[in-house]
Amino acid sequence: MLMRYKETDPFYLTEKWRAFAAKIRRRDKYQCQICKRYGKYVEGTIVHHIKPREEYPELAYDPENCATLCEACHNKMHPEKGRKALRQRRRYRRYD
Ligand SMILES: [Zn+2]
Ligand SMILES: [Zn+2]
Repeated sequence: MLMRYKETDPFYLTEKWRAFAAKIRRRDKYQCQICKRYGKYVEGTIVHHIKPREEYPELAYDPENCATLCEACHNKMHPEKGRKALRQRRRYRRYD
């Protein structure tokens, strides 16, 4: 599966998305919603789609489908983006 990085995805560069994301971050009090579950306050910088936009484009602007996350938590939500995950996937494949 092809995963585009958000930096190169024009969706994230639109005014509409920026305005929407700003609203979500304000709703979440600029706090990472995953760290919050563990009682930690970490500033959230990224608005993440809980259901991936690739599969659920109709939920791209659904506030219920979006959560503010810090970078560390966000990376965990997208293991397919990291090199480490790639290695992991290869390892799993070996046992397939
Ligand atoms: Zn976090
Ligand atoms: Zn995300």
